[in-house]
Amino acid sequence: MMFVINVAYFIAAVLFIVGLKQMSHPASARRGIVWAGVGMLLATAVTFFHPEIKHNYFWIILAMLVSSVLAWWSGKKVAMTDMPQMIAIYNGMGGGAAAAIAAVVLLQNDVYDPLDKVTQILAVLGALIGAIAFSGSTVAYAKLEGLIKKSFRFNGQQMVNMAVFGVTVLLGLYLALSGTNYGGFALFVFFVLALAFGVMATTPIGGADMPVVISLFNALTGLAVGFEGYVLENPAMMIAGIVVGSAGTLLTQLMAKAMNRSISNVLFSNFGEVSSGEDDEVEGSMKPIEAPDVAAMMAYAEKVIVIPGYGMAVAQAQHKIWELTKLLQEKDVEVKFAIHPVAGRMPGHMNVLLAEAGVPYDIIFDLDEINEEFPTTTVTLVIGANDVVNPVARTNPDSPIYGMPILDADKAENVIVIKRGKGAGFSGIENHLFYQDNTRMLYGDAQQMISAITAAVKTF
Ligand code: NDP
Repeated sequence: MMFVINVAYFIAAVLFIVGLKQMSHPASARRGIVWAGVGMLLATAVTFFHPEIKHNYFWIILAMLVSSVLAWWSGKKVAMTDMPQMIAIYNGMGGGAAAAIAAVVLLQNDVYDPLDKVTQILAVLGALIGAIAFSGSTVAYAKLEGLIKKSFRFNGQQMVNMAVFGVTVLLGLYLALSGTNYGGFALFVFFVLALAFGVMATTPIGGADMPVVISLFNALTGLAVGFEGYVLENPAMMIAGIVVGSAGTLLTQLMAKAMNRSISNVLFSNFGEVSSGEDDEVEGSMKPIEAPDVAAMMAYAEKVIVIPGYGMAVAQAQHKIWELTKLLQEKDVEVKFAIHPVAGRMPGHMNVLLAEAGVPYDIIFDLDEINEEFPTTTVTLVIGANDVVNPVARTNPDSPIYGMPILDADKAENVIVIKRGKGAGFSGIENHLFYQDNTRMLYGDAQQMISAITAAVKTF
């Protein structure tokens, strides 16, 4: 039986890896999710035949039923803009589950059935990382959901955090290296401290940086699951953990790189909460425009580049912009979409929305592919994007976003920016693009404004 189970685990692991590969392109992403899901289903189903699963079928099936219904329901109803917090809470549960497995294994480590040293060390490591990822992800969820509105900070906080972490690690070393007689109390204190550290390390981080933190916790959860997979001698769990751990690490690095920030800057700088545009003198003024004038510019343009940002997601304007695009294409206007790697609030946010609206992939371009086309563009239409088109990232070394690669919207002949008011972007700083001579501001909700432009284009 174990042979059949291991073959099934191997197939599941292949499905995870192929699924992940397919998720890297929007055209195949949906298929990739199904493949990985089938892998997970296979791994879960064959585990029921594992010789060690002899008892508690009722509780296992009950837990699976409750969690499947909850996951199905929450997955169906979640809004696209709330996706980061959903990922945070699901991810945290993975870390919590890994920590819970470690707790059970370590509690059962008695003289009659002792763990070998490597297993004991990895169980403790998985427990530490899983517990931190669990409590940290829960705080991240609460912040993004608006349940925790403030970031708690005090002088010497990092020292206190390091002290708590240090004591937790020492206790972990004791648990990992001692024999079987450490007792439940030391284990209990170890878990309390690890959970507390997860909370203490996450609460000072600004809500706006949470997507990167979630990705980091995701990587940690993968690592914890991988360690516990070794402890349980379960290859599917080990491979799934390693895949999640490495994918999470790569994603964290990519997000930090696309913002031109280090992970330590994300974790310790309070970005977006301390920066403000107060000292940032901007020359010129924001010049408003009305939808019919924008429509005229676009209808007679040779080339239009659309830059979607977080505001397009908020307004759910993706369907309207695709309708406008088709109309312009009928008038022989060349329309392209430019996607910044961190536009929106999670990687791939804009790609998913545009794919949902049916925008073909061959007119969607990444920053590197499209940046040199802006100087030859008649109209750049910025829809609810802000930081990702702020030229100070290129020009002002004192700016908090200096060095972040941006879409060179400012180099187009004309720039139209749709946003509701004078509100700043995620980083909280003034956008110099809005004050340029070639920029006009179309104030209003993105969906309503694009509808108004579309209606006007129809009259030409
Ligand atoms: P920003 O968050 O910088 O700006 C969004 C703009 O949208 C605001 O200026 C807002 O202005 C406008 N807006 C909001 N609602 C609407 C609406 N209904 N209609 C029209 N406009 C609206 O967005 P960007 O996409 O440019 O930048 C993303 C930022 O998020 C970057 O700084 C990035 O570093 C950060 N980030 C991204 C992550 C990712 O993985 N994608 C992860 C973590 C952070 P107003 O209020 O005036 O309408």
